[in-house]
Amino acid sequence: ENTYQKIRDVDDSVQAFLTLDEERAMEKARALDEQVDQGSEQPLFGIPAGIKDNILTAGLKTTCASQLLDNFEPVQDATVMERLNEQNIVTVGKLNMDEFAMGSSNENSGYYSTKNPWATDRVPGGSSGGSAAAVAAGEVPFALGSDTGGSIRQPASFCGVVGLKPTYGRVSRFGLVAFASSLDQIGPLTRTVEDNAYVLQEIAGHDPHDSTSVDVDVPDYLSALEGNINGMRIAVPKEFMEEGVEAGVKEQIQSAIRTLESLGASCEEVSLPNANYAVAAYYLLASSEASANLARFDGIRYGVRKGDGDLMDVYKKSRSEGFGDEVKRRIMLGTFALSSGYYDAYYKKAQKVRTLIREDFNHVLHSYDVILGPTAPTTAFKIGEQKDDPLTMYLNDVLTIPVNLSGNPSVSVPCGFSNGLPVGMQLIGKPFEERILYRVAHAYE
Ligand code: GLN
Repeated sequence: ENTYQKIRDVDDSVQAFLTLDEERAMEKARALDEQVDQGSEQPLFGIPAGIKDNILTAGLKTTCASQLLDNFEPVQDATVMERLNEQNIVTVGKLNMDEFAMGSSNENSGYYSTKNPWATDRVPGGSSGGSAAAVAAGEVPFALGSDTGGSIRQPASFCGVVGLKPTYGRVSRFGLVAFASSLDQIGPLTRTVEDNAYVLQEIAGHDPHDSTSVDVDVPDYLSALEGNINGMRIAVPKEFMEEGVEAGVKEQIQSAIRTLESLGASCEEVSLPNANYAVAAYYLLASSEASANLARFDGIRYGVRKGDGDLMDVYKKSRSEGFGDEVKRRIMLGTFALSSGYYDAYYKKAQKVRTLIREDFNHVLHSYDVILGPTAPTTAFKIGEQKDDPLTMYLNDVLTIPVNLSGNPSVSVPCGFSNGLPVGMQLIGKPFEERILYRVAHAYE
């Protein structure tokens, strides 16, 4: 009840939610009240959560913020939802995003733009902008987001919350509507590092329904918070502190480095020589995969059907009226990059760049425990400021995209303010070593 009251109080101005599930949620909450004993074993028992609208929730509309899926109600839960429901969380509703997770500001939503709770004339970041804003505004203690090129970490940074992109393969993608399957990961957005560890603990682990989920043991993430960071070796890539990064952001990162040093860590400058090619490679690879993944939205199998002529007419009208401009831009770019004759020049070359970037990270993390830098080059920008300039918009993710290409885990943690707006610090670790990220983030927090 308190949760919905809070949502009624703030969501008129923040607009983080697309769909609320009040009746079912209240029913579940009441049922859980009757069995509080069981709750002592389950840390997430009865905790209200908001879910990004590209994660399937049985019986609850899942639109990916696209008009094309305006009427789509899945019959099945995503694996992460099944696991959280077993832990007796209460799903409050579904959160706004950029359409099909393509964007960095929430302005590509097919419905409306979510506002940044710190300054409602500014964007919350994207694509998990609804998730970050709902947590920052105190509407829910945790939300799930997805990160293909920075979509958990960049909005976490803009809204001053903790957002983790787990190692590729750590969390099942079964039931996450695919954008770029080789990059997508689901992860938690929370107010504290500890809360984040609680959620990851439940959603991590192998899932036979997702062939890319990896069958390695899930460690105890909570116990990682207890260790200190004395003697830890932290690498700061010089490419992450170059011209594009705002002075106010750099200052906060430098002051975070001093704090970590005072806790006994040593920080040294390193280089990730291929990081500068990451954005170009990403937009080829992600768009190529998207063009294939989005082929299933044809007006026949899912969502809203337009046109009443022959089959081609239905395809054409459903897709041209259902998809927004950014989604169409990516489908065209991806289809072009994959067409025969161009494959070697674009897709294959981008795959090679991806390998080089992965080697850069392996090389640095061979001698260091974590890599540290800003999450995003700027703080939250004004709504409308970058909307008509896709290239500038794409550069929001220069610092987060390399990590999706390499598959490493990465967390964004709040580290101060610049001109009254939150700044995020990004920590990157070795594959499957989310524990070290949590330890450093918790020690800093
Ligand atoms: N902003 C990036 C894009 O538009 C990343 C999106 C994401 O991580 N889902 O592709």
